[in-house]
Amino acid sequence: MLGSGNPNPSPFQSGCSVAIVVNNTPYIVDFGPGLIRQAAAMTPKYGGKLEALDAKNIKHAFLTHLHSDHTTGYPDLILTPWVMGRNEPLEVYGPEGINEMTKNILKAYEEDIRYRLYGEEPANNQGWRVNSHEITKEDTIYKDKNVVVEAFPVPHGTWPNAWGFRFTTPDKVIVISGDTAPSKKVAEYAKGADILIHEIYCKAKYDEKNEFWKKYHALNHTSTYELANIANEAKPKMVVLYHILFWGATEEQLLNEIAKTYNGKVICGKDLDIY
Ligand SMILES: [Zn+2]
Ligand SMILES: [Zn+2]
Repeated sequence: MLGSGNPNPSPFQSGCSVAIVVNNTPYIVDFGPGLIRQAAAMTPKYGGKLEALDAKNIKHAFLTHLHSDHTTGYPDLILTPWVMGRNEPLEVYGPEGINEMTKNILKAYEEDIRYRLYGEEPANNQGWRVNSHEITKEDTIYKDKNVVVEAFPVPHGTWPNAWGFRFTTPDKVIVISGDTAPSKKVAEYAKGADILIHEIYCKAKYDEKNEFWKKYHALNHTSTYELANIANEAKPKMVVLYHILFWGATEEQLLNEIAKTYNGKVICGKDLDIY
């Protein structure tokens, strides 16, 4: 868990981002602010256990949707691993619009890229490049010897394209909800999964909000009770909560709300935890 956060700039929850690590190869999902530093924090150099998350090893990334809390780390994801030695293009898979966003980020940083390539800082001429791929339908979107990645559409307010992902690795099936209101698709894809990583908000705190925000959150996000229903249907071996909207609630309150109707294993995701 690189970042379990959301738009609120909590110092205890870095921007939304997850790394799936298979055979020392990292696959990043979502680019919330702070992700590259969080990845570094998980490497032996900074006291962590995962050499795989050394910046230069980050070559594959997947984006659920274009909301800023999932994308403000994108320039960091493109540029820092290059500066640290990545010598091949970043492969990115995301919703329609990712091509345009990629093009514009590279445009915004063209002076930096030019200086590093042709100034006094020797840099390779591959690592800053990005091959971006737009996901247009529910399908397998990526496959290599470590993972098969499937994308499925999720309801996130009026976003035209918001995706969840299922990673099938040699030893685990991991489903990531992305930002979503309660979704049948998530329940379907997470059936029997080893880990369901799901977004969440506290229902008791939601009940204290005004009508405008209640309507917004009901159409865009998933409450503890709603997630309990999904988990009862899918029966994953473990649920990890992320993109957690505490709104002042404690971890215990969140878990208690879920436990009222779901008795499977649920973990409140914390930055830098490994599952
Ligand atoms: Zn979000
Ligand atoms: Zn969102």
